[in-house]
Amino acid sequence: MLNSLIVGNWKMNGSLASNQEFSTQLEDVRIPKNVEAGICAPYVYLAQLQGLLEKSEVVLGAQDISVHIKGAYTGEISGEMLQDFACRYVIVGHSERRQYHGESNRLVGQKALAAIQHNLRPIICVGETQEQREASQTIAVVAEQLSAVKQILGEEALANTVIAYEPVWAIGTGLTATPEQAQEVHAFIRKQLGVHAEQIHILYGGSVNPKNANELLSQPDINGGLVGGASLKISDFVMILKEASRVSEYCP
Ligand code: PEP
Repeated sequence: MLNSLIVGNWKMNGSLASNQEFSTQLEDVRIPKNVEAGICAPYVYLAQLQGLLEKSEVVLGAQDISVHIKGAYTGEISGEMLQDFACRYVIVGHSERRQYHGESNRLVGQKALAAIQHNLRPIICVGETQEQREASQTIAVVAEQLSAVKQILGEEALANTVIAYEPVWAIGTGLTATPEQAQEVHAFIRKQLGVHAEQIHILYGGSVNPKNANELLSQPDINGGLVGGASLKISDFVMILKEASRVSEYCP
């Protein structure tokens, strides 16, 4: 059994003032002990949030990482820099980066490796587009995305990753995979993960909200959620944490 993992992806949202307000409200929230909560924030707010979240049990993460260690890579942020701000997680291969920044499966694998080399846990996003689902290509697409990552990391390093299944058609659209649709893909992913499969969190992402969280998180191969829009509103985020706590056993 795994404790549930709920990670907020703030994307390009937040401000000094709203982050402060979010964190102040978070101070009054007790994070259930069978749930781990994280926030992946824009780079520029990591320093602020590191300070603000210090007293809370919510851990910090980033939304991308460079494959390079240092040097002439304008605009890039290295794993070492993320370590400076006590980041624990980093999202790699989010569909928005694949779509708008042309990130390939191979690059996503390299980013996951860069994260692990810096003691960061990569949250590796995989998932199909609407067109691919309609063409019954979901499993093939996810298999290809995972296989590139596996080739680069190897089975041992995979144990230090989190996989997020995020059907592209469900991200920010209000459409959600049914629990059965999600479970089918999660079970497939689990089978691909090899010897350490049982200890790897596989998160579902795609319009998770307080209403659908329980049903989705109750599925046997769904170990938590990657939450976009609903993580920006503290009351929704906290409700999702509560739902996660309800369906997850405590694993010390
Ligand atoms: C995401 O950005 O990873 C995501 C799942 O977004 P949303 O919850 O808004 O669909």
